[in-house]
Amino acid sequence: MKSHARVVVIGGGIAGCSTLYHLTREGWSDVVLLERDELTSGTTWHSAAQVTNFGAVQTMVGLKTHSINLYKELAEDAEYPINYHHGTGGLRLAGTQDHLDGYRHFRSMAKGMGVEFEIIDADECRKRHPLITTDNLAGALWDPMDGDIDPAQLCQALARRARKAGAEVYRHTPVTGLTQTASHEWIVHTAQGDITCEHVVNAGGYRCNELGAMMDVVHPVASMEHQYFLTEPIADIEALDFRVPLIRCPTDDFYSRQEKNGLLVGFYEQDCRTWGLDGIDPDFTNALCPDDPDRVLPVLENVFERMPCLTEVGIHTIINGPITYTPDGLPLVGHVPGKRNAWCITGLRAGLGEGGGHGWLLAQQIVHGEAVYDTWCLDPRRFAKYADIDYTALKAIEDYQNEFRFHMPHEYRPAGRPARTTPLYEVLKEAGAEFGVVNGWERALYYKPSPDFEEVHSFRFNNTFDVVAKEVEAVRDRVAIMEVSGFNRYEIAGEGVHDWLDTMMCSRVPRKPGRVGLTYFLNDDGNVKGEATLANLGPNRVWYGSAAAAELHDMDWLADHLPVDGSISITSLVDTHSILVVAGPRSRALLQAVFADVDWSKDEFRWLSAREVKVAGHSMVAMSVSFSGELAWELHVPNEGLVDCYSALTAAGEPLGLARFGLHATDSMRIEKGYRHWKADLITEFNPMESGLERFVKMDKQFVGKAALEKMIVTGPRRAFVHLELDSDGAPAHPGDSIVSGGKVVGTVTSAAWGHRVNKNLAMGFVDPSCASMGCNLHVEVIGEPVPAQVCDPCQYDPDNDRVRS
Ligand SMILES: Cc1cc2nc3c(=O)[nH]c(=O)nc-3n(C[C@H](O)[C@H](O)[C@H](O)COP(=O)(O)OP(=O)(O)OC[C@H]3O[C@@H](n4cnc5c(N)ncnc54)[C@H](O)[C@@H]3O)c2cc1C
Repeated sequence: MKSHARVVVIGGGIAGCSTLYHLTREGWSDVVLLERDELTSGTTWHSAAQVTNFGAVQTMVGLKTHSINLYKELAEDAEYPINYHHGTGGLRLAGTQDHLDGYRHFRSMAKGMGVEFEIIDADECRKRHPLITTDNLAGALWDPMDGDIDPAQLCQALARRARKAGAEVYRHTPVTGLTQTASHEWIVHTAQGDITCEHVVNAGGYRCNELGAMMDVVHPVASMEHQYFLTEPIADIEALDFRVPLIRCPTDDFYSRQEKNGLLVGFYEQDCRTWGLDGIDPDFTNALCPDDPDRVLPVLENVFERMPCLTEVGIHTIINGPITYTPDGLPLVGHVPGKRNAWCITGLRAGLGEGGGHGWLLAQQIVHGEAVYDTWCLDPRRFAKYADIDYTALKAIEDYQNEFRFHMPHEYRPAGRPARTTPLYEVLKEAGAEFGVVNGWERALYYKPSPDFEEVHSFRFNNTFDVVAKEVEAVRDRVAIMEVSGFNRYEIAGEGVHDWLDTMMCSRVPRKPGRVGLTYFLNDDGNVKGEATLANLGPNRVWYGSAAAAELHDMDWLADHLPVDGSISITSLVDTHSILVVAGPRSRALLQAVFADVDWSKDEFRWLSAREVKVAGHSMVAMSVSFSGELAWELHVPNEGLVDCYSALTAAGEPLGLARFGLHATDSMRIEKGYRHWKADLITEFNPMESGLERFVKMDKQFVGKAALEKMIVTGPRRAFVHLELDSDGAPAHPGDSIVSGGKVVGTVTSAAWGHRVNKNLAMGFVDPSCASMGCNLHVEVIGEPVPAQVCDPCQYDPDNDRVRS
């Protein structure tokens, strides 16, 4: 066995084999795969191995398309052909019109990735799948590319190609330990000796946390038992001259595909089981869990009604195996949080369909630093430490029970909540807050107008419309308060901290003590990596603030670039502080009433400045920044003073007409102002010029990514960021919706909301530069309808910022 390799991939299932193959495809041949048993001896060998193109976000659709194209190529390889039933087609059934709305949105989103889904009615479903009944069926999404593949052959084919390109595969080589050296290399200890490598990849499937423990990491991955049945031949299928399509059924919780002349039927029962949470038998390899058909009986009844032929056919095999889940159902593909040169490709629950694409995107990140698509939806750093195994198991059960039921807009499911709260949580709940979740934190979305109010989730404007309108009105006309829990905040301190940050950000860093600035940072490719608000709190002290979701992402990036002399330190304040936003024309008066010893006047406490203030014995940092476009302050309050501070503000606010507001109102107002959201409008696929951030880029200084950006500026923009006004009041656009010109997709919506102050249906997105001029007439495909849209001014509300300075 080799003693050195550039990359060691641990695990020989689809995840590991695909990563190995794609590393060679991206140009690295000094790569090794270690497998404790035979290839595919984990979950992969017994997979139902359906390969679909459907995804809820563009990155997923794109990576699945890559899988499909790759598998087609492998199937046609004359030297080593593999069995792949490609293009059988598949139906995702819908029981309600709301569900069909969702499919219409996903169809629009997939178009932007060059993928065409079809929405069909119940009769057409029956024509395409003659074995189903159509009772209670609203229709379906038809995915023409659906099929199934032989999982063992697929992995062998990938390993074979990788070997041909120089990779080595060592079977029966269990990894027993991982040690990182001072120079950030990894020593991979195995039963057969050690291998030292630059990068290590955890592709250990349901054993990923055994490998995680070797580097002191807990991956939020939990396994569920999952069963499918294989039937005897079915006469109706034998009589057909085509393969019956795949079915995914959210109303009856099953899937099926043709297997020989019978069916393979898999179930997602409510009475489901986690697996292996207390440790996994080391001998569980090439193994299955005991059959448990009784568990799926309640599902079976509905399945029989949908596919009556199943009542007359015998079952010849039951497969029950472990399948991995993460808290949000998407895998963990990318950097292991807090560990340099460590990667993972774990938590795959549809690994056969997706594995080709995940291995591709991971190999690109390892070799080039970034992948072709923004991979945040897969990034392991999207879950901070709150996502432990207990939490993950609760979410896994919930997800399993809702397998084909996608999240409706603004739907946050209850399992595992509340995971992260501040001392204000109960107070806001009492006040009627309806909470959503941001990186585990409970954050108010809006305040219910009555205790029994329940949001009817929809892809159209719903019953929260007027509620949000009222909150916006209060912010615009009076004063309102919101807690922004979990906002990512670090104190960065040390000699030369401003100079160091200046090399990290493409924007100017605020140099004067007490000043605050919005800054952006780029990756080495010159594309947008992140956004941070920097507050200069003195000669060697900066407060760094960014989106709650960026907690681990930004820390990794900053820590990786810290000066080696240890002169600068970073301390996270995420768990010790929260933010109270006070916004509206009367906010100055309110703050003056509460913090009487501070001069909050226009001349003394100007926009984009910060200072330390005190109330009821609690010190805090006040910053005059605004995400709403109204006069506003953020109070960065230590948790122990949060309730006192909030109480003081609400008491003093009563005579001023103080209201409460939440995230939905904020979203409406920030879109009117043209403010971007990290990982919605700011993604690694585009540079800051393409993202409309020219004014934040200072080309007269050095910064990470500058050389690459200079080159791109010469080449010209690939896309342009635009703001759109839609000519419709029935539904908002949704992130991912296609922007169309002359029948051709020319762009994608990234954010959208009703602008309550300007009374317009607004959206933002990236389009082909030829469609970006002011007034350009386009269409946005919103839940199936082409809605006329016009490119409009980026700032629809108070473009001169008179109100924030008032
Ligand atoms: C019943 C069932 C039906 C399914 N149907 C579908 C489907 O229709 N379509 C679909 O896309 N997906 C399906 N899946 C899911 C899919 O099979 C999995 O997502 C996929 O196989 C996971 O692959 P993996 O490589 O991540 O894990 P695994 O296949 O488990 O591979 C991990 C490998 O790592 C090795 N390993 C672990 N620890 C070590 C160590 N210390 N040293 C060396 N090697 C180690 C293991 O031996 C194993 O070979 C199904 C799953 C189940 C259970």
